[in-house]
Amino acid sequence: MRLLEYEGKELFSSYGIKVPRSRLAMDAREAAAAAREIGFPAVIKAQVLSGGRGKAGGVVVVQTPEAAASEAGRILNLRVAGEPTRSLLVEESVDHVEELYLSVSLQRERRTFVALASRSGGMEVEASARGAMLELPVPLEGLSPEACRDFSGRLGLDGPVGSELSGVLERLERLAREKEAELAEVNPLALLRDGTFIALDSKLVLDDNALFRHPEFSRLPPEDPLEEVASRSGFAFVRLDGDIGVVGNGAGLVMSTLDLVADSGGRPACFLDLGGGAQRERMEAAIRLVLRMPGVRSVLVNIFGGITETVDMAEGIKDAASGGGIPVFARMRGQDEEEAWGILESSGIPVFARSEQAVEAAVRGAAP
Ligand code: GDP
Ligand code: MN
Repeated sequence: MRLLEYEGKELFSSYGIKVPRSRLAMDAREAAAAAREIGFPAVIKAQVLSGGRGKAGGVVVVQTPEAAASEAGRILNLRVAGEPTRSLLVEESVDHVEELYLSVSLQRERRTFVALASRSGGMEVEASARGAMLELPVPLEGLSPEACRDFSGRLGLDGPVGSELSGVLERLERLAREKEAELAEVNPLALLRDGTFIALDSKLVLDDNALFRHPEFSRLPPEDPLEEVASRSGFAFVRLDGDIGVVGNGAGLVMSTLDLVADSGGRPACFLDLGGGAQRERMEAAIRLVLRMPGVRSVLVNIFGGITETVDMAEGIKDAASGGGIPVFARMRGQDEEEAWGILESSGIPVFARSEQAVEAAVRGAAP
């Protein structure tokens, strides 16, 4: 199991390895608020399991809340090595004088951990360059402070800086051993002007076969941040494997809409039930969530409102759908429906009175 950067940094922090102040953000608005709280310049980082984010444009420094929002929007649409970005880490920017590479990994053939380090860490370090690194085999009982000091010395770091580095190595090695990690990597480990170190990145791979001994990791939020958003918003949300996002109010209505989609030859991408009393913001949040799902090619919103305010919901659909390249189709019945239809039609969102018509349009809209 791989951890996301922010999960790895939480673990680093619990082992006494310093990390930048940060906050997780799920959308552009949250990212701007987080950056404002953390202060500028701030760093916005795609939370994906793949590496190479820096080169892919998934790590940027921003100077203003406006830049934070627009860069966050861009990165949320970015794929890193094919992997969609579902959340962002907003961090304080840390001034540093050097970037090191430091890792502890399991060497299966030797049945031990080995520590690797280099004074030239950062984005240029590739797997192939690891051969050129300093290596320290870890005995079964772990690394002694003396061994860590000695290793720092081999890297050319003595005195107080050397002790700082050996402290980081001791902690990283203990983390890897105790948590049964296959890899615990810090790249870059930044050396600050005051001679201390801070982990600017984390890469943690845990041994799946040992996870049963570590219930703490099963308490991690689901690896799917969209499910987190959905549960925070109080939506009932289930991912399916098609390409038509289905949103509605009421579990029965959403279920029957899924059936209609399947009957028309379409494949639903999700089940999303807004729940009762849905209003503008919830509708907007629901559609934004669906639009962020990888592989969604059209969105179908099916609302049957008795007491539900269709006008409010239409405004929410309009807010979320504007500017996106993915077509949204709606079926809407209920109080003030004519006014709601007007709002949708005037913003280019096809709206229908009958579910079957909306389903057909959404299926056509998803066709390549
Ligand atoms: P990766 O490319 O996926 O490994 O992403 P990293 O987290 O390593 O970030 C890429 C690069 O961005 C790092 O090598 C750093 O040079 C730089 N970087 C990341 N965080 C900070 C920061 O807080 N301050 C500064 N100045 N640079 C950062
Ligand atoms: Mn990195």
